[in-house]
Amino acid sequence: MPGRSEELFQRARAVIPGGVSSPVRAFGAVGGVPRFAASGEGAWVEDADGVRRVDYVQSWGALLFGHARREIVEAAREAAARGTSFGMPTEGEVRLAEALRAAMPSLEMVRLVSSGTEAAMSAVRLARASAGRDRIVKFAGCYHGHSDGLLASAGSGLATLGIPGTPGVTEGASRDTVVLPYNDRQAAAETFEEVGDEIAAVIVEPVAANMGVVPPEPGFLEDLRDLTIRSGALLIFDEVITGFRVGRGGAQERFGVAPDLTVLGKVMGGGMPIAAFGGRAEILERLAPAGDVYQAGTLSGNPVAVAAGLAALALIERRDPYPALEKAAERLVEGLASILEDAGIPFTINRAASLFSLYFGVEGVRDHAQAAAADHEAYARFFHGMLEAGVALPPSGYEAWFLGTAHGDDEIGRTLEAAASAAERVSAPSR
Ligand code: PLP
Repeated sequence: MPGRSEELFQRARAVIPGGVSSPVRAFGAVGGVPRFAASGEGAWVEDADGVRRVDYVQSWGALLFGHARREIVEAAREAAARGTSFGMPTEGEVRLAEALRAAMPSLEMVRLVSSGTEAAMSAVRLARASAGRDRIVKFAGCYHGHSDGLLASAGSGLATLGIPGTPGVTEGASRDTVVLPYNDRQAAAETFEEVGDEIAAVIVEPVAANMGVVPPEPGFLEDLRDLTIRSGALLIFDEVITGFRVGRGGAQERFGVAPDLTVLGKVMGGGMPIAAFGGRAEILERLAPAGDVYQAGTLSGNPVAVAAGLAALALIERRDPYPALEKAAERLVEGLASILEDAGIPFTINRAASLFSLYFGVEGVRDHAQAAAADHEAYARFFHGMLEAGVALPPSGYEAWFLGTAHGDDEIGRTLEAAASAAERVSAPSR
């Protein structure tokens, strides 16, 4: 029994809404007591009750090299010893911006911020200023952080005008957000035909990874590129998850489509709170103090986070982890698929590079409506079977599973063993 986690969760709920600092951590989608983390090492996380599990959350994708990777921890420790924050520019920021540009040539200039939310929000502001237009197109099921205008959710059907995704967001804030179905090339084309000259930008996860994983179908990203160029709108790739995960050059390299602006976070910070947005120099030069679009942050470019990020990017450059990551993902996905097939359980596994997720009870998932139609209760049963068998999956069927270089043959073997027993839970609803 998770005695210590349960006790901490009870105390937490008295002082922190829902007991957590970010909602999915609370196990709301799968039920049960969220495990409190005590420490991590490589692919493994140890909870407050001393139970070790193979971890596929990996800080929601921020960790590519596993927990407490020595080079990253040392870089952060050394930087902290020199000063945790200055409010003055530092050499590390210049080096990090240069490293980002070296990996992704479309990032002629970048601005460092502290979270993906902040990066996406600022990129949209900059895009609106640059295009001199108000409307933003986003896709149902794509998450770009929790800023007001980007939380607009989809109604069903074509070109639904955004309705606020949560109380507290005004209609005004989401009025200019148009929500379209992911992978729907026709909906995108029709929207641009109707209101193309009012659209400032299209923002998209080039591989959607917040409704489970939904890869772009051939032509989808290319169409968005063409439509935006023709109408004078900007194309923003939110690569907070895909950046440095599907390859060093992100999804834009993998799919050969260059956006005007890119939003980054997670892996680029080695697990520290840092993010970035960047793109064409002429657009970025509009940002204050070079230009007239305001954006700022006390802790932006924080030296400890920058040092961790530089260490992560140096590891990426030295090790080229992507071929091995993709092989590991392939092995895991194939193993899972054969276990579930043998058990006679209907499922879909979507994968792009090492990013993948598992849906029960559906055949094929190409957009949010199909992801929502999956059997999320079956996922919850599978999740708890895995948890008991020593594997920590993301506690929601809408999340990607995150592999890192620390997931070796041993960890993948254990995961597949656990899956064989967890699969029995999927068909048997009681737990
Ligand atoms: N964009 C994407 C694609 C994300 O997955 C996330 C977070 O999961 C964000 C933006 C927001 O980033 P953050 O949680 O750092 O604010």
